[in-house]
Amino acid sequence: MADRTLLILGGTTLARRLAQAASASGISVIYSLAGRTDAKSIADVGFRRGGFGGAEALADYLYDENISAVIDATHAFAARISANAEAACQLSDKPLLRLQEPPWRRQAGDNWIDAGEIEQGRETACETASRVFVTTGRQAMASFANDTRCWWLARVIQPGADLPALANGRYLYARGPFTLADEIISLRDNSITAIISKNAGGEATYAKIAAARELGLPVIMVARPKAGEAPMVATVPEAMDWLRTRLV
Ligand code: NAP
Repeated sequence: MADRTLLILGGTTLARRLAQAASASGISVIYSLAGRTDAKSIADVGFRRGGFGGAEALADYLYDENISAVIDATHAFAARISANAEAACQLSDKPLLRLQEPPWRRQAGDNWIDAGEIEQGRETACETASRVFVTTGRQAMASFANDTRCWWLARVIQPGADLPALANGRYLYARGPFTLADEIISLRDNSITAIISKNAGGEATYAKIAAARELGLPVIMVARPKAGEAPMVATVPEAMDWLRTRLV
C-alpha cells in the first residue's frame, strides 16, 4: 500500500498511535501538526507543520500531494481544522474519516459542573472556588490572565511567547500522560479547590478527573463543540479497517 498516501491531521495521542500503526502496515503517512508545540518524530512518518491556509488551500494540498485519504485525528475541540478538513475533502473528492476519543462520562462520586464554553467555566470557577487548576490549553489563557478573582494553576505543555503572564497564578509545564498519584500530589500541594477541564476524552489526561473524584473536588467540565458530518470512529483498529477499504 506504499504507493498510497494517508494524511493524518494530528496533535493527539490517538493520532500518533494511528500514524505508527498505518506506517507499520506499509502505508505512506504524512502527519500534519498546527506547529504550536514541539513533537517527537515517528519512525518512517513524514511530518509537516503549520496551517494550510484554509479549506480551499487544504484541498489544493490534497491534490498537489496526491493524498489518497485523510484521517482527522485532531483534538475534539479543534473545530476549525475539522470543518476545513470536511470542506476540503468534499472539494477534492477525497475520503475522510474522523478519529476521536469518546467523551468522558460522569461516574459515581464525580462532582461535575457543566459549562458550555471556557468563559462560562471561568465565571463558574470564580463564583465557587478560590484556587483553580486550569487545563483548557494555551490558547484559552488570555481570558484568565487578568482575572484576579481566583488563583490559577494553568498546565500547558511548554513555555512560549504566546502565553500571557498570569496576574494571579502560575504555569505548570508538563506533557501527558499523567498518573493518578502525581495528579493527587499536585492538587494537594497547590491547595486546589476546583478544576476546569475540556471534555477531551481519552486516557492520557483522565487522571486529573479521577484525582478530583478521589479528593472530592468539583470539575467544571467544558462541553465539546458540535461534531461534523464525517464518519467517525473511536479506535485505531477501526480507523485501520476503514483505511484498508479505502487504500486497497
Ligand atoms: P483549530 O482552532 O481547529 O485550528 C486553527 C487553525 O490551525 C486551523 O484553521 C489550521 O490552520 C491550523 N491547524 C490546526 N490543526 C492543524 C493540523 N493538525 N495540521 C495543520 N494545521 C492545523 O485547532 P486548535 O484548537 O488551535 O488546535 C491546534 C492543534 O492542537 C490541533 O492539531 C489539535 O489536534 C491540537 N490540540 C488541540 C487541543 C485543543 O484543546 N484545542 C488540545 C490538544 C491538542 P489553516 O486554516 O491555516 O489550515
